[in-house]
Amino acid sequence: MPAVTTEGGIALLVVDMQHDFLEGSLAVPGGRDILPNVVRMIREGDWDLVVVTQDYHPPNHISFATRHGVEPFKPHDVPHPYWQGSATVSQMMWPVHCVQGTDGAEVHDEITAALDERKAWGTPVSYVRKGQDPEIDSYSAFATNEYVSFTELASILFSAQPHPIQTVVVVGLATDYCILSTAVDSAKFHLRTLVAEDCMRGVDPTSTAEAIQKMQAYDVQIYHTTDELFEAIHRPSPFLG
Ligand SMILES: [Zn+2]
Repeated sequence: MPAVTTEGGIALLVVDMQHDFLEGSLAVPGGRDILPNVVRMIREGDWDLVVVTQDYHPPNHISFATRHGVEPFKPHDVPHPYWQGSATVSQMMWPVHCVQGTDGAEVHDEITAALDERKAWGTPVSYVRKGQDPEIDSYSAFATNEYVSFTELASILFSAQPHPIQTVVVVGLATDYCILSTAVDSAKFHLRTLVAEDCMRGVDPTSTAEAIQKMQAYDVQIYHTTDELFEAIHRPSPFLG
């Protein structure tokens, strides 16, 4: 049987590995446990490109419970920023987190050290910031919630040299919010999309289990471990044939 390789480029997306999500105001349970695995992904994967995302909010962002005078970790109806009339969006209320220019918004040092090594080996590393619109949240690295506007991520992937990216591995935080939305959007762009459970953690166990099911519904390939994902990555995608 001839050796098979994935067609097109392969990118690693490192999502929101920032101080506030690892040990700060919105620390994801067990988030720090994935640090060594994500570092290993960055260092050992066969990547044509690595993209790092940062949740990067202005002060008084729409997702901050304090702005609305309500409790965090509960959904709250907020006005849709661009629709006319009384349309609302259900927005999860969060503690203040990842405010632009603060230490909490910075990517963890162990991740930036691995990224610097990777850059020194010649792999391009791009940064994408999201959540900068004060009036709408952004879980996906591709777009805001409600798809009000898009980040530069899709064009970074599709204009990559020497091959456009066709396979995306998504790692980071949190499984039930930014990993879910990013992986599903990636699949919607017809990118072969893979995740590993030892490289992500969720905010809440119930919504994390639901997130796994939703990703599977979009043909996101879910592996238990980094090793299993590394082994699978050069096999042809079941849906690209
Ligand atoms: Zn946020």
